[in-house]
Amino acid sequence: KGPDPDLVAIAERMSTVKHKILVLSGKGGVGKSTFSAQLSFALAGMDHQVGLMDIDICGPSMPKMLALEGHEIHQSNLGWSPVYVEDNLGVMSIGFMLPNSDEAVVWRGPRKNALIKQFLKDVYWGEIDYLVVDAPPGTSDEHISIVQYLQATGIDGAIIVTTPQEVSLIDVRKEVSFCKKVGVPVLGVVENMSGLCQSLADVTFMKVQSELGLSVDVTQDVISCLRINAPELVNFLAYSEVFDRSGGGAERMCREMGVPFLGSVPLDPQLCKAAEQGKSCFEGDNKCSVSAPALKSIIEK
Ligand code: ADP
Repeated sequence: KGPDPDLVAIAERMSTVKHKILVLSGKGGVGKSTFSAQLSFALAGMDHQVGLMDIDICGPSMPKMLALEGHEIHQSNLGWSPVYVEDNLGVMSIGFMLPNSDEAVVWRGPRKNALIKQFLKDVYWGEIDYLVVDAPPGTSDEHISIVQYLQATGIDGAIIVTTPQEVSLIDVRKEVSFCKKVGVPVLGVVENMSGLCQSLADVTFMKVQSELGLSVDVTQDVISCLRINAPELVNFLAYSEVFDRSGGGAERMCREMGVPFLGSVPLDPQLCKAAEQGKSCFEGDNKCSVSAPALKSIIEK
């Protein structure tokens, strides 16, 4: 019996991809897709050629997170063409194949596996530096498939996204043990939503407005005056814990499990807005003063 022709085809496709990174989470809603999208924006912003593959088949969020809703996949003689945000950032998601974004995908494992295989075999990425794979939460059929299909060509590793609470960390432990079992290196764990950061300007605004009973206009003048005369004060952050992290959060869990802790990203209304609008948080109108530097330092690691 010769080699599996599908694996041969995948290996050929992947031969033009330098690095493959999986983004995983134990639970849904912890910010995995937001991280995958912003990681891709950041890498593309560093002039790398980047592909982002969304294999969250039941909940594809990449079309929205990259402001690409309504786009369709085209086929050329080279294969399926990703949808491009920029010349150096291409995206592939089942979300582009659904007639409308409210459509539910009710598929069993084998059909999901077939689609993942097809994404790996048939998408023409060209020569790229990074393929970021946004996986569904948990450790299900999709994870086993992607690892099995990619392993022959080498996976650089997985980044696991979590929130600080123990309920999320329990599932991260499972994710780490999954990676160990299947032989995928854990590049590290990112603690997301690890506290609420508001700029002092926002806090001042609310206080001045509500406690002193000033009008919005006068409050705005006060803030403008602060911005000009004391910008460092405006950038000072008011930080508060949101989740119970008496268990030590992700950092302690990483120490216990012997995996790298990459850093934490605060719960940031600006980041939520950038993600909702499908924009990069690193530049332009949606630049996030608090979370972008945190994400940047994680990505540089
Ligand atoms: P997951 O992929 O883990 O299900 P998402 O990336 O879809 O989670 O994030 C869930 C929601 O939380 C989204 O609306 C996203 O914009 C928001 N979000 C994620 N991370 C942050 C953050 N650090 N600050 C504010 N909002 C965030």
